[in-house]
Amino acid sequence: TPTDLIPLLERIIDMLKPEAEERQIEIVRSYPAEQLIAFVDPNRITQVFYNLFFNALRYTSSGGNISIRISNRYHEGSRFAAVSIADTGVGIAEEQLPYLFDRFYRVEESRSRHTGGMGLGLAIAKEFVESHRGFITVNSEVDQGTIFTVYLPLHSGSDFTA
Ligand code: ATP
Ligand code: MG
Repeated sequence: TPTDLIPLLERIIDMLKPEAEERQIEIVRSYPAEQLIAFVDPNRITQVFYNLFFNALRYTSSGGNISIRISNRYHEGSRFAAVSIADTGVGIAEEQLPYLFDRFYRVEESRSRHTGGMGLGLAIAKEFVESHRGFITVNSEVDQGTIFTVYLPLHSGSDFTA
């Protein structure tokens, strides 16, 4: 289904805004002027971004910020929407990165956190993104923050592919 990504992301932000405000975490947006229409299942992609956003909130302490940026990128001959969610949270050690998308994997320190989870959020996100012929990358630095970037194939109706 051709899906306009910005309103989809805005709906997720609306859902999580109360928690962000309560913890004084600022949400910074950087959107292109053009519409970005990805060819995706909107329910599944909502789940993907919800999981990433929820992580960004959960693993960032009060007073931090979460930045969301959308751009269009050319990769191996086709156009993708690149959606980055960057936080100023606890970060992830390099040796943990290879396991991050495994089912039930949680970084050591996260396991003892009161904000418990199952370790499924990223496994689901990766599976859904790849089922759309997209991919997901992560960059992180301990105590600095984390950036997840989701690449989704753009629909031919998108301004950028014209
Ligand atoms: P669930 O999503 O199932 O509720 P979870 O958040 O622990 O549980 P994932 O979303 O799969 O599971 O994330 C796996 C682990 O990766 C987390 O436990 C956490 O240690 C680490 N992680 C994920 N996102 C971030 C982030 N933005 N900053 C720091 N660590 C993160
Ligand atoms: Mg999670």
